Amino acid sequence: MNTIIKTLDGKDITLSGEIIDGFRSQLTGNLLLADDQGYDEARTIWNAMIDRRPALIVKCMGTADVVSCVKFAREHNLLTSVRGGGHNIAGMSLANDAMLIDLSPMKWVSVNPVTQTASVAPGATLRHLDHETQLYGLATSTGINSTTGIAGLTLGGGFGWLSRTFGLTVDNLISAEIVTADGKPIHVNEKENADLFWAIRGGSGNFGIVTSFQFKLHPVGPQVLAGLIVHPFKDAKKVFEHYRNFVSSAPDKATSWVVLRKAPPLPFLPQDVHGKDVFVIAAIYAGDMKEGEKVLEPLRRFGNPIADVIGPAPFVAWQQAFDPLLTAGARNYWKSHNFTELSDGLIDILLEYAGNLPTPLSEIFVGQLGGAINRVAADATAYPHRNANFVMNVHTRWEDSSMDDIYIDWARKFFDKTAPYSTGGVYVNFISEGEDRVDAAFGANFEQLAKVKRKYDPDNFFRVNQNIKPVSQKPVSA
Ligand SMILES: Cc1cc2nc3c(=O)[nH]c(=O)nc-3n(C[C@H](O)[C@H](O)[C@H](O)COP(=O)(O)OP(=O)(O)OC[C@H]3O[C@@H](n4cnc5c(N)ncnc54)[C@H](O)[C@@H]3O)c2cc1C
Repeated sequence: MNTIIKTLDGKDITLSGEIIDGFRSQLTGNLLLADDQGYDEARTIWNAMIDRRPALIVKCMGTADVVSCVKFAREHNLLTSVRGGGHNIAGMSLANDAMLIDLSPMKWVSVNPVTQTASVAPGATLRHLDHETQLYGLATSTGINSTTGIAGLTLGGGFGWLSRTFGLTVDNLISAEIVTADGKPIHVNEKENADLFWAIRGGSGNFGIVTSFQFKLHPVGPQVLAGLIVHPFKDAKKVFEHYRNFVSSAPDKATSWVVLRKAPPLPFLPQDVHGKDVFVIAAIYAGDMKEGEKVLEPLRRFGNPIADVIGPAPFVAWQQAFDPLLTAGARNYWKSHNFTELSDGLIDILLEYAGNLPTPLSEIFVGQLGGAINRVAADATAYPHRNANFVMNVHTRWEDSSMDDIYIDWARKFFDKTAPYSTGGVYVNFISEGEDRVDAAFGANFEQLAKVKRKYDPDNFFRVNQNIKPVSQKPVSA
């Protein structure tokens, strides 16, 4: 059967059944066309807003499959996208009528407890990584939802509960194997192909397909001091001010994020609070738990919380604690800013909008950064936002597609209102739209990234991403 597929020039070409069969014979993974069983499942990603139909999907089993895919795509000049965990909010793993190189079957994680390192395949999620590393009481810095793909998260920078203590995910990346645009697998680290190693630590999927990551690990857990403090929304302002004060001198091992949302029906919350606006502090101490008790005490002692469930918890459980709030399959639109400080004016706006969230699934997160993240120079890796002490992300979530415009409009208004307080930068992995904020995402490192792009991908083969074009001009911000 013939398959119509897009080229890099935007033209439709036809691949004959014979050509497709020849390609299939070079793969150990499955090749799926639109009529094949499993096609719809393979094109479904986390954000239900994204409904795209690739012309063909290859479920890669290893580096050799990835090499075959890149060579085949280059031979026929095909538009190609790459999928890791499929969590990218803007749907950057999928394009209509393109070839999808799906890495999700590649989930292995191999830990060396002696060198305290892990080799991780690009289809692994954070859950797979934690599962294997915690076997040895080790962990590395990743994100706060265990269902997220390690690949996309790492390539954008990566931060979560351990980042103030051990740096970003990219600060813990020792080396990687990458299939470049010419279809060759190469090794990158501080010494080998150092420019490319620099670029993949924050430059997203622009430079090649990573088929293996090697991370530095640290002793963590298996139990950590972590949990939630839930305050009534009427106290939000004074609790927020106290939180601001607390975090200004918190040690690197203490990380706390603010979550503004309607209370989910959690068993430790009284029933009459369910569905009401609440002010939540989620905190972890990534060190000795007795020491942590002392450090977190001022945060816990303040005000009259509805619940305080901070206590010893398995690290893997804490890594999954927010999964039920951010399940796959809802419609999502995110807007994000970085801040250096939480000024009074900003707090007022955050609380005004938090008191008027458009849906019960929506929430505003204020994540604490700083610590080890910000002790790395802004040009030491491609991730440029080493001045940000806080990241705000509004997770606007809903189910009814007829409400898309209304909820997106709400999020944009909130974003515009908070913009004057922001650094102007944005985490590349929190951008909902396509390319409109690419320069804000890569900041002062943009020119160097474009230079590396010109060297390794002059034809912009890897373009279904927050795209860095192989030219020296900066795109204009939206
Ligand atoms: C529920 C949820 C929670 C999140 N929490 C956090 C958090 O706590 N911290 C944080 O830092 N981020 C977080 N994120 C953002 C997350 O980092 C991004 O969504 C990231 O893109 C996810 O990676 P993925 O592999 O799942 O995505 P995908 O959609 O598969 O890929 C994302 C991008 O990376 C490219 N790509 C994927 N794999 C490769 C590869 N192997 N080689 C080259 N390019 C590749 C894709 O082409 C695409 O452009 C969260 C996202 C969600 C949805």
